[in-house]
Amino acid sequence: MASAPSPRTTVKRLPKRGVYDAPAIAAILDEALACHVGFVVEGQPYVIPTIHGRSGDRLYLHGSAASRMLRALSGGIPACVTATLIDGLVMARSAFHHSMNYRSAVVLGTATLVEDPDEKMEALRVIVEHVSPGRWAEVRWPTPKELLATSVLGMSLEEASAKVRTGPPIDDAEDMDFACWAGVLPLGITAGAPIPDAACRPGFNPPEFRRPR
Ligand SMILES: Cc1cc2nc3c(=O)[nH]c(=O)nc-3n(C[C@H](O)[C@H](O)[C@H](O)COP(=O)(O)OP(=O)(O)OC[C@H]3O[C@@H](n4cnc5c(N)ncnc54)[C@H](O)[C@@H]3O)c2cc1C
Repeated sequence: MASAPSPRTTVKRLPKRGVYDAPAIAAILDEALACHVGFVVEGQPYVIPTIHGRSGDRLYLHGSAASRMLRALSGGIPACVTATLIDGLVMARSAFHHSMNYRSAVVLGTATLVEDPDEKMEALRVIVEHVSPGRWAEVRWPTPKELLATSVLGMSLEEASAKVRTGPPIDDAEDMDFACWAGVLPLGITAGAPIPDAACRPGFNPPEFRRPR
């Protein structure tokens, strides 16, 4: 996994917020529940939300074998994957200096179809575990028919960057006495009360919602 920016992944605006440390990029991808995959088909850019999973320096995507996104990407076209975590609303005294605290990752590269059956099953495990750690051990695993209906793509994290903003608002000195509230409203994803499926057998506890942090 890369720990230095390439010319394409060097953060230009507020470069001190650029992070190229591979574990930091991996941590953002692991905490984000979903990502957005950008690619171009016949001159038209698409940015499609999807679930992902990471194992080492490989990012996995999956979906129906009939999905345009997966079919297009498996043809070896360039892709851009982004994941964003919003940590807070930064409320400044001026409208201009409002911001968000965030951690985001951008991965550039080319995805390839995972054809090895063992790697494909492992990638699906990684994706399930990414969403709900411990869930793979609780559920029925994919059948050969389900595996045929599912495509899995792998993408290297070799060319990737992160950008991180933390901390309070940064107002101009002349605005510091302006009469309004200023500070940060922290945000995060929390789970609501679990809703059991109507046919759920009694005696099972719902999975806990856990994110790596
Ligand atoms: C949080 C989240 C996670 C998802 N995870 C997965 C996943 O792991 N695997 C997977 O295959 N799919 C996933 N999806 C669905 C995914 O976004 C696509 O809808 C799906 O891949 C359908 O692909 P397609 O080839 O049929 O669509 P396409 O043929 O690519 O889409 C045709 C058109 O439909 C519209 N469209 C397609 N998807 C969306 C969308 N999500 N929102 C709004 N408009 C849309 C667009 O205009 C697009 O041009 C997820 C969606 C969300 C929001």
